[in-house]
Parts: sequence; structure tokens; C-alpha cells
Amino acid sequence: MAGYVLKQILQFISNITINAGVYERCTDYHKQAIAQKSSRLPLILYEDSETMNIKTRAMDCVNREVLSQIYMSSAVFATSAISIISLVSVLASYNLLFILLSLLTVMPYFIARRLRGKDFYALKQRQTKRVRYRDYLWELFNDKTAVKEMRTMGFDQYLREEFKETRVEIDKELWEFSKKDALSLLFCDTIRVIGYTASVVLALVLTISGEINIGLFGASIGAFLAVQNETKKFLMDLGSLPEKISFAKDYYAFLDLPEERKGSVQKESLTESIRLEQLEFTYPNAGAKTITGVNLEILKGEKIAIIGENGSGKTTLSKLILGLYPVQQGRITYDGEALEGLNQETFFQMVSIISQDFMRYSLTLRENVSISDLERADADRDILGVLAMVDLDMDPAQLDRMLGREFDGLELSGGQWQKLSIARGLFRNSELIVMDEPTSALDPLIENQILMNFLTVAQGKTAVIVSHRTGLCRYVDRIVVMKAGEIVEVGSHSELIQREGEYTRLYTTQEQWYV
Ligand code: ADP
Repeated sequence: MAGYVLKQILQFISNITINAGVYERCTDYHKQAIAQKSSRLPLILYEDSETMNIKTRAMDCVNREVLSQIYMSSAVFATSAISIISLVSVLASYNLLFILLSLLTVMPYFIARRLRGKDFYALKQRQTKRVRYRDYLWELFNDKTAVKEMRTMGFDQYLREEFKETRVEIDKELWEFSKKDALSLLFCDTIRVIGYTASVVLALVLTISGEINIGLFGASIGAFLAVQNETKKFLMDLGSLPEKISFAKDYYAFLDLPEERKGSVQKESLTESIRLEQLEFTYPNAGAKTITGVNLEILKGEKIAIIGENGSGKTTLSKLILGLYPVQQGRITYDGEALEGLNQETFFQMVSIISQDFMRYSLTLRENVSISDLERADADRDILGVLAMVDLDMDPAQLDRMLGREFDGLELSGGQWQKLSIARGLFRNSELIVMDEPTSALDPLIENQILMNFLTVAQGKTAVIVSHRTGLCRYVDRIVVMKAGEIVEVGSHSELIQREGEYTRLYTTQEQWYV
């Protein structure tokens, strides 16, 4: 009786929790945790395929509500256990053989769930990379630029086939698993039915021999069936618990990944220089070093151009200078303070990054510029000033006009969008500006014009401009030439021309662009 009451109470509690949307809320909470972790993950981990696999599995765990199921299963286990104990005690009063028979014939459910659960988790692990590939291809069909390119170049059919093949392969493996799973369950069901039949025979024997009367014959079979069903449910849940825990471990493995460094030194401005000493850097899972033995001092107020062919390591070096990638070997110091010890928030307040992968925000023209320094969103003169500096002459009346076609705004050309992204970087009134091929989509002469405009107004600011073009080199203080991850030459335009080395080679091949 007490067991019955307790079971009802537990059942009531679990119903209330389910009805109150605990599942959904748990899922939302865990999604939020993944989003938060993603925003704190060091950028370098985004270059690591295994980290992305862990993230995919963590999201899979959340989307399949595995964590909520584990939390809820404790209540379910308790309710089932109470039911089983009370039913078994009823069955014991008829004959102990009933208990043995009922429990043994549902045991295979536990073994099957345990083994299939292991298989399922292993399958999901094996499939992660392919699932990411399938999702990546799917994203391509949703990307405007990619769709345009695949259509005009005629490889949409190829990508569709690739998507189909990957999808079919993944689904086929899941289907094979389901078939095996269904067969295991069929086997378990057969043993259970054999057990049930044996219990009917046993009840008949007991009735004929006069141990139980005809009334108890029906009751014992009913109780037997109830024990089997309740124990089956309990064992299936118990058997699949290790699988669920494995999925949950993936979620926690993602949350346990290291976060962005949290330095405490408040550095709001550069007073002397940035110094790189014996810097070395290797990308995760890459065999060779991308940066080797780099030594460089960038003085406050200096304008430096980092020049070199594609793949020579310029972008990597600029990301290291900004602390976007961690220092693995060697040192980077700002006025003698180690970069990793600086407080990130204040550090990023003093820098502005203008990159070749520019964003096209479907926001107003004003927002597209001032989003980098929202406190000055109303400074129309400054906004128009940077727009003029990048040679994007816009009508002041157009400042609040929406841009981009997504929301019926004014569409700009690729070059205009890039100019706008440079304007955004320049509007942020920071003292260190790092530009990574900011003008790659523009004509070399326009590029020169923009950079010259910038250099004239950027007095006092420290600027590092990464480019594979040499056009701007005449106007900067110092040129750093990179080749295969090393700095091979440093000097002014005239000094380097006299050396007749790598810089001269690059300069002479590009000279005709600037005529
Ligand atoms: P640059 O800016 O001079 O064109 P990068 O710094 O972009 O050169 O790249 C330098 C080298 O590092 C290249 O050989 C490139 O293949 C390699 N590299 C860049 N990104 C990664 C990455 N995420 N993983 C492995 N290697 C990379």
C-alpha cells in the first residue's frame, strides 16, 4: 500500500515536470551553454577539425534531449523499481518459480540495449565528420554567393550529387543499425513470450496439482505479465543509460575545452612598442611550422607593411600580433607586457582590425559604419568623413537608408562593400590598426589612394598593413618582407630596392599595375 502511494506521488511529480516543459527548458539551457562556450573558444580551435567534431556531437546530444532524459530517468527508475518490488512480492506468494521465470526472460532486453547502445554511439562517432560535411554542403545551397557561383560555373549538379551520396551513405548506416536493433528486439520479444507461455504451463500444473485454485490461476498469470512488462521497461532504460552518458560526456567535453585567455593587465594604450621575439607557430594538425624565428619591433606611431607572396604567413603573423592565435613559442610583448597577460576587453578597445573577409551587414549605412563604435553613432560628420576617406561618397541624406537586398535595401557592389568595411574599421578611433589585405577586391590604384588617404590622417596611430601588393610600400615607414614563414628583409622602399632581393623581385613584377 505504502509502495503504491509512493509510486503515485513519483508519477505525479514526473508528469508535472514533463507538462511544465522541463524538457524544452533543459534543452534551451544547454543550447545556451553551447552558444556561450562557442563565443569564448580560442579562435585557433576553429581551425581544428577534431574540435569541430566535438562541437557537432555536443549539439547532437542537446538536440536529441539526451541530458534531459538522463535527469528525468532517476524519477522513472524509482517509480519502476517500486512497481517491480510490489508486483514481485505478490508473485512470490504463488510460487517462487514465477519470479525466476519472469525476471530471467526479460534479461535479454538489458543486454540488447547495452550492446546496441554501444554500437549506436560508436556509429555516431564514426559519422561525425561526414555529418559535418553533409551539413556544410547543405549550407552551400543556402548561401547566395555559393549558389550564384555553382550555377554560373555549372557545378550545382556535382554538389547535389555529392550531398545526396553523403546523405544516403549516412542514412544507409543508420538503417543498417536500425535493422540490427529491430532483430535484437525481436529476439528479446521471443524469449519473453516463451517465458510467458512457460508461466501459463506452470500455473496450469499448479492448479491441476491443487496448489492454487482457479481464481489464483488467472491472478498469477496477470501478475507474471505485469512483472515482465514493468521489468522490461526498467531494464531497457537501464541498459541504454551508458549510451546516454557517453553522449552527455561529449557535451561536457565541449564545455571543458579551454577558453580564451583571461589576462588581468589593463593596457589601454601603447607607449613604446610591440616586440616579437623568436616567434614560432604551427597550426593544429599541420606538419610544418607556418611562422619560424620571427623577430620584429613595431614602434608606436610606425606604419609597417608586411609584404610577401600568398601563403608566406602574413595573415597568420597579423593574427598572432593581435593575440587572436596563442603564442606557442617565443614572445609577444606590448611595452614589455606579455600579450597573454593583457586583459582582452581593454586590449581590443585599443585595436581595430580590418580584414579581407569583410562582412556585408544588412543594416543601415550609418550602422554599417558606426557599429564599430556605437557611442558615436550620431556623429554624422565623422561617418561621412571616413566614407570620403575610403572614396565612398554618399549623400548625407542616405545615412539611414537600409543596405543589402535581403530587406529591400540599397545594394552595393563588392568593391563598395569592401570600402565600407574599411570605413567601419577606421571609424573605430583606435590607436593600433591592423589591416589584412583590406583592399584586395579593389583596383590597385584605388587601393593606393585609400591607403594614402589613411596614412595622411593616421598620424600618431600605429598601423600594420598586410598585403601581397607592393603599391603602398613607398608610403610606409618600414617594409617587412616575408617568405615561407620567415622575415627575409626589413627596410624602407629605397633600402630594399637597393638590396635587389625578394622585395625587388615582388616590386618589379607588380610595377606595371601602378603606372
Ligand atoms: P598569407 O597571409 O601570406 O597568404 P597565411 O598566413 O594565410 O599566408 O598562410 C600561411 C600558411 O599557413 C599557408 O601555407 C597556409 O596553407 C597555412 N595555413 C593557413 N591557415 C591554416 C590552417 N587553418 N591550418 C593549417 N594551415 C594553415
